[in-house]
Amino acid sequence: MMNAAKPRVYIETVGCQMNVLDSELVIGALRQHGYELTDSPVEADVLLFNTCSVREHAEEKTYSALGRVRHLKRRNPDAVIGVLGCMAQKDQELIRKRAPYVDLVVGTGQLGGVPELVAKVQATREPQLAVSLGRADAGRHEVEASFISYDPVRDPSMRPTPFQAYVRIQIGCDKFCTYCVVPSTRGPEQSRPPEHIWNEVRQLVDQGCKEVTLLGQTVNSYVYHQGDRRTRLSDLIAGMHDIPGLKRIKFVTNYPKDMTDDLLDVVRELPKVVKYLHVPAQSGCDEVLRRMKRNYTTAYYMDMLARCRERVPGVAVSSDFIVGFCGETEESFQKSVEMVRVARFKNSFIFKYSERAGTKAAERYPDDVPDEVKKRRNNDLLAVQNENSRLDHRAQVGRMVEVLVEGPSRMASKVATAAAHSPLIQLTGRTMTDHIVVFDGTPRLIGQIVRVVIEDASPFTLYGSVLTDEVVGVETARAAPLREPPRRPSRFSLPVI
Ligand code: SF4
Repeated sequence: MMNAAKPRVYIETVGCQMNVLDSELVIGALRQHGYELTDSPVEADVLLFNTCSVREHAEEKTYSALGRVRHLKRRNPDAVIGVLGCMAQKDQELIRKRAPYVDLVVGTGQLGGVPELVAKVQATREPQLAVSLGRADAGRHEVEASFISYDPVRDPSMRPTPFQAYVRIQIGCDKFCTYCVVPSTRGPEQSRPPEHIWNEVRQLVDQGCKEVTLLGQTVNSYVYHQGDRRTRLSDLIAGMHDIPGLKRIKFVTNYPKDMTDDLLDVVRELPKVVKYLHVPAQSGCDEVLRRMKRNYTTAYYMDMLARCRERVPGVAVSSDFIVGFCGETEESFQKSVEMVRVARFKNSFIFKYSERAGTKAAERYPDDVPDEVKKRRNNDLLAVQNENSRLDHRAQVGRMVEVLVEGPSRMASKVATAAAHSPLIQLTGRTMTDHIVVFDGTPRLIGQIVRVVIEDASPFTLYGSVLTDEVVGVETARAAPLREPPRRPSRFSLPVI
């Protein structure tokens, strides 16, 4: 039975920041149709699962979540259960074979239609399948139309914090790395018109947002052509930089081959742009990179890294690595170890290769590295990275940094109990180089930028004290000191491995 009060929607999200944003947009659209959000599946009239297909583990997580809500459908046959996003796009009918009680399967390009599709299920009790036609030209237009008219619908309650928001500037991907499902689940690469993005950022700032993270699968490939006018990511960022009230601009994720000098110059010159670049390398072995079809060599990547550090002194760079990709020998893996050791990334996200049906890698290459070897390689690479992170963090001790205060730290409640008489709580936030900082402060600092002196460091967190209780204004951000340029040879060369 539908609740007499406002209908309620429950949503679970798995996967990347794109999915977090998609969920925000879906909830925003449903709110416009009278729904309210609930965190209780038992109370919900509509239960949505926004899914990820990048790893098998993420898919299995969704199937077990669906298993958990099956009994709710028996109790309330009118409840609508929907699977959204990448897995919906990739598996389509298969989802209903494994979970026949699912009413709704909606791909990434059709999320704008969720309210109408839910209404259709409620009116007809017929399951609804809405997925993209694929990468054919018809699919491109379908995705484009949905995407452009959809993004301005936002739901502030779903954001990471009230003053931080994701803004999609691009969807899809044309790179076709052999291990990746994204080009088929998210379709062809399409950039949004700059005016739409600037307007959306203005709206977000009007709602109290201080930091935007621009999202794209390969965000630095962003380009929009209007007649003779070409807008690159650097132009897009420059065009939003002076919006009053906006204090920080981030962008993820970068593709190594598209890291152009004009973008690096904007990162260096514009004070609101964070001095942090996430640029996945994926492997330190040229042969593995070739099989992954990443379209660069390790030498190219290391040159690009050196260029980032030369052009943006003090920039922090992080990376992704896949271990145990098809045919990765011990010798190949050791090349990744050496790359991580030499590159001194701020941090690296390390994943075990997971074969995905429908990818070129699944078609062409056997998944021939045993799981225990993948696990061991994952741990070995992580150990090298953790040592680098420890050194990077130790080097921050004694520095003054500007921190956007995100909220109470995870330990805050314990600290509050131990010192209930104190007006201070333990807060956490991030620096302009994306380092996480924990310090004591009053709750009124949440959402502000404050100066913190770093006093201690672990491999994952910096610890400090607020310099003064003074809040840093937008204008003073320009005066923030950057780290000295690293004293190292201007170009990296990978040691002979
Ligand atoms: S660049 Fe490669 S890994 Fe990244 S989304 Fe595109 S195909 Fe996937």
